This record gives sequence, structure tokens and C-alpha cells, in this order.
Amino acid sequence: MIEHSSLRSAESLIRFGAEKLSSISNVPRLEAEVLLSNLLKINPIKFHTDDIGISSKIMDKFESMIESRFKGMPIAYLIGKKEFWSLDFEINPSVLVPRPETELLIENAIELFKDHESPRILELGTGSGIISIVLYKELVTPEITATDISDEALYVAKNNADRYQIKDINFLVSDWFSEIQNKKYDLIISNPPYVDKTKLSNEELFGIDMEPDIALYSENNGTSDLEFIIQNSSIFLKHGGCLILEHGYDQADYCMREMKKAGYSRIKKSKDIQNIPRIISGTFLNE
Ligand code: GLN
Repeated sequence: MIEHSSLRSAESLIRFGAEKLSSISNVPRLEAEVLLSNLLKINPIKFHTDDIGISSKIMDKFESMIESRFKGMPIAYLIGKKEFWSLDFEINPSVLVPRPETELLIENAIELFKDHESPRILELGTGSGIISIVLYKELVTPEITATDISDEALYVAKNNADRYQIKDINFLVSDWFSEIQNKKYDLIISNPPYVDKTKLSNEELFGIDMEPDIALYSENNGTSDLEFIIQNSSIFLKHGGCLILEHGYDQADYCMREMKKAGYSRIKKSKDIQNIPRIISGTFLNE
């Protein structure tokens, strides 16, 4: 508990927060500053330039945020947003917190489609909508359908599209391809659930256990959803259409084999910033 009477300044509150978070974070002070600046709606730089007084209402809110963070709640959920591709996105516990490796997924798609006018794109499992929204901004008048099985996730995705005045992404509740009828796309892209929950240590589960299971975990060593998408995508691709997927750190060879079996060619693996193969892409050529 914070002793309210002894706290007068933002600095003492930040110290209290940083001290509490030091056992769960490598950057406890930074985290405490982010949380407090967000509550106060000020730029954190002000903590270093101004003397900021804190009301007891803010103190109570900050204390409960620090408590939640201490239990593993991701910062993005606590402040309701996350930066991705240098854009701010609304985030809440019904969607995954965007990860840097997903930027690589998008880079691969942009590389393949940057000179393509109005590509037809299907995103499976859009979550907060980040992939479709970034592609919409980066490509030339793409026609995008973005699906998710979760209504709550699509609500967040639509808010994020609104935030960037994007009106023509077609957001659709669908269990993978279940609501996609007789349509052919130039690109199918997905960051599906691919984590094997049984292999996570308690340490690895910390924090991640507050994100939606449905967005993270898949059966069969994490490969079930990847397998389903790879096996069924070609039905929905035009001749020469591409499939691009994000996968787990140890699933590149598995995806390569499955894509070959499903008839894909020009299969390419890409490594993430930690040099781990993380993205696979392939082209479907009809016989
Ligand atoms: N990259 C995330 C993680 O390893 C998982 C994202 C996903 O399952 N699609 O935590």
C-alpha cells in the first residue's frame, strides 16, 4: 500500500511503482512512467522537467494499475493501446497484444504486392485488425476482407479502422473460411494461433495467460490451425495467388512440408529480428 500522506510528487509515485515492478520487469521505471503518464494524459518527459502534483484519485488508480501489472497484465491492456508499425492501435483483453514479428509478416506481403493495383486480400483471424489496417494504408487500393471468429475482436478491429478513417475493409465473423463463399483472392494472410500451451513454462505463461487463448494456442504442438489454413487456402486463391503465414519458432520446416504437399511453389522462409524463421510464403499455381 502507498502511504498517501507521504506522497506528494509524481517522482515518489514512480519510484514506488518501479520498486514494485523490479521483480517482473527489466525496465520497471519506464513502465511506471508509462502507466502514470497515461493516467495523467501527459508526455512522460514532463516527469523530468516539471514538478507534478498527484491527486489521491490518481494515486489509487496508479496503485491498482501497478498491482495488475505486477500480476502480469500486459501494459497494452492497462493503457488500452499499443504502437505497431508506428501507428497507435486500441487494444483490450479480447485481442492479442501486437508483436514485432508480425511487422515482418506485413513486410513480406508489401514486398510481394507493392506494385499490384487493387489486390484482393483475405486476412484470417484479424484480432485487433492491425495487419489489414496496415496493408490498407501501404498498398494501392486493396480490397480487403478481414475475418475473426470473435465478435469482440472484430469490434476492436472496427474501432481501429475508424480511428484511421478506413471505411472499406470488410470485417466478417468467420471460423477460418466458413463464411467465405466462392471468392478468389490474390493474397491470404494470417497470424493464426500457433503456440503449444503444454510446452510453456510458468515463466513463459506469465502475462501471456491474460491474452485470449483462442488467439494463441493450437492443438497438435501448435500446428492444427496452420495445417487447416495451409490445406484449405488454395481453394480461395487465384492462379498465382499467395499465402503468407506467421508461425512458431520451431514450425518453419513443418510449414514448408505442408505447403509443398498442398501444391505451393516459390516457398520462402523469413527470419524475425531474433534471426528465427517466423514467416512462410508461397504461391499457388493452378495446373
Ligand atoms: N508470437 C506470439 C507468441 O509467441 C504468438 C502469436 C500467435 O500465436 N499467433 O507469444
